[in-house]
Amino acid sequence: MSRSVLVTGGNRGIGLAIARAFADAGDKVAITYRSGEPPEGFLAVRCDITDGEQVERAYKEIEEKHGPVEVLVANAGVTKDQLLMRMSEEDFVSVLDTNLTGTFRVVKRANRAMLRAKKGRVVLISSVVGLLGSAGQANYAASKAGLVGFARSLARELGSRNITFNVVAPGFVDTDMTKALTEDQRAGIVSQVPLGRYAQPEEIAATVRFLASDDASYITGAVIPVDGGLGMGH
Ligand code: NDP
Repeated sequence: MSRSVLVTGGNRGIGLAIARAFADAGDKVAITYRSGEPPEGFLAVRCDITDGEQVERAYKEIEEKHGPVEVLVANAGVTKDQLLMRMSEEDFVSVLDTNLTGTFRVVKRANRAMLRAKKGRVVLISSVVGLLGSAGQANYAASKAGLVGFARSLARELGSRNITFNVVAPGFVDTDMTKALTEDQRAGIVSQVPLGRYAQPEEIAATVRFLASDDASYITGAVIPVDGGLGMGH
């Protein structure tokens, strides 16, 4: 059965791997992107999730072309790392506005059609950092921890409507986001990971696809670590 799937930030990194995993399984996949040329093979809609009007426009286009979104993967996210002493309010608020409030915007809009359909799957991409904390990432960690409370509240609120909300908490994944780290920082991280390496984006995508599959029909409010053992299940 081909479902209407939306992956935010599906133009690169983990989001692109997730989009490909659903497309390979035969689903109709829409992705959002902000600038540049999106990858081929998907319905690509331009959308900055910090702007409610752009979110509304993106959903309208997806609904017209693919039908109401049945599976939402809220993946778009940013970092703006800084020690607290030097972290400006704008550094803090802007990361929260994308990672947490941006997720609220896309989930709220998806929920409308899911309620009508009396079914839906929502997967939020958090991070091991949201649960372990990370020096220099108080803004990012707060936003990613916030996703857990958000998902668990919605799992309670909407479980009776057959809508599931789950969180995937990746460890360190080979993408543009982690390319900024130095070799020394990378080695330091890898030494803490029992599996002794970074994840490939496809390893995160496989778990997301599982959570949206029939095999995961009785899983909601869960936080699934895909972190090579870094958080030891948190
Ligand atoms: P990338 O930096 O490679 O990609 C980030 C994606 O988010 C891009 O598609 C980007 O779009 C999109 N995005 C950022 N801000 C916005 C916005 N305001 N509106 C719409 N889209 C936006 O990151 P990753 O692929 O590594 O990360 C994906 C998710 O996984 C993030 O939520 C991240 O926090 C999380 N994560 C990543 C880990 C890692 O080690 N890489 C570990 C744990 C979690 P654009 O291309 O237009 O900028």
